[in-house]
Amino acid sequence: MNYEGQICRAPMERASFMLPVMVGCSYNRCKFCNLFRHLNYRELPLKQIEGELKRVREAGGSPKRIFLGDGNAFGLKTERLLQILEMIHAYFPECMCVNMDATVTSIRQKTDEELLRLYENGVRHLYLGIESGLDDVLLFMEKDHDISQAYTVIRRLEKAGLIYDAHIMTGVAGRGRGEENARALAEFLNRTGPAHVVNFSMFLHKEVPLYAHIADGSFIPADELENLKEERTLLALLKTELLYDGFHDYIEVRVRGKLPQDKEKMLEKLDQVIGKYEGGRALYAYVQGECPDLKRCGGLEKVWDMG
Ligand code: SF4
Repeated sequence: MNYEGQICRAPMERASFMLPVMVGCSYNRCKFCNLFRHLNYRELPLKQIEGELKRVREAGGSPKRIFLGDGNAFGLKTERLLQILEMIHAYFPECMCVNMDATVTSIRQKTDEELLRLYENGVRHLYLGIESGLDDVLLFMEKDHDISQAYTVIRRLEKAGLIYDAHIMTGVAGRGRGEENARALAEFLNRTGPAHVVNFSMFLHKEVPLYAHIADGSFIPADELENLKEERTLLALLKTELLYDGFHDYIEVRVRGKLPQDKEKMLEKLDQVIGKYEGGRALYAYVQGECPDLKRCGGLEKVWDMG
């Protein structure tokens, strides 16, 4: 099947068979996100989905774990998800686990009975774009949920047996607020206990709505050093058992491990990297080559140093 979009999956799903069930993201409004912005959202025909299942079966595939793509597959209507699950089990009876990305809103739109039916039909991990622990940041970034709604849906998921994993984003609160965001997020994660936390630290792009805010000064990005310190505070405060994987692709730093046992090792790694960048020039994570026009932000500093 030809894939349309940019593949962005939690690392723990990289070995799963990725079955696209839609093109793009049905929400597509988070201000920082450029994954599917250029695509017209559409659901893929069931015939096409079945064709892909058949192709993989005939090629000898027998995945135990399937990830439904794309941006917010849980936003599909329950009946459609159940039809897809039925096809999956017909082609791959050995598949024990169907996972996908979800938004808080997509869960709110489903009843408790629907959540339970989806669990009974093999849905397990839902990756939620939690991103921040601060309501004003969620509102500003148009995440379409607030913290209290996130608490409520996670309780409902647990009741149905579904497993919640959190996507977070250091840097999302902007310059000077990394520490505050880390504290708020730690409280949220400690209270909700996700199985996995994936931190894709913020990347700046020209083609997203956030760019206009950076250009007019209403959002000042944090530099990579502040993002690393935010991550350090968060990790230090996490008390719950979980698998953590954090990426700062721009500066090629990845911190991963199991909490609480790997915490000290992970903090040490962050301390070393922080020490390396402390006192140096500010580095901003941008998508190289796509931001040549943005010159200034927060006084006279360049936002993206093109080097
Ligand atoms: S829900 Fe996810 S994929 Fe969709 S716009 Fe927001 S961050 Fe991007």
